[in-house]
Amino acid sequence: MSKPRQPKLTLVSILLTLGAFALFVLATILDFPSYYNTIMMTVGMALLLAAWGIYFLGGRSALKNEAATENVITVIGCRGCDVKEERTFAPGDYIFKELGQCKKCTGKAFIRAIYAVPLKSDER
Ligand SMILES: [Zn+2]
Repeated sequence: MSKPRQPKLTLVSILLTLGAFALFVLATILDFPSYYNTIMMTVGMALLLAAWGIYFLGGRSALKNEAATENVITVIGCRGCDVKEERTFAPGDYIFKELGQCKKCTGKAFIRAIYAVPLKSDER
């Protein structure tokens, strides 16, 4: 269902994370004066933060793009008659959720289906 994250960004964040761990390991193994150790740890932390930032920002923008390319439709039906109505999906909608009395008869209206329609988009 979901599209993969932008591979370039993921690769960059992985490389930054690896670089940060390499710095941590070097700082631990090599017996530098504590002054250099502090610098290496600080740089390592900065790399880690940058990696996480890129990873989360990349993931979020991918999610945004996904939401913008789909229109989710909720189909409403009735147990008493064959009325069929479509509206845009609202948070809290789920299949077979009861919606109270039907507009046409005294039967119970409920959500029959929920589906997504891809929107035509110029990007990609
Ligand atoms: Zn009805």
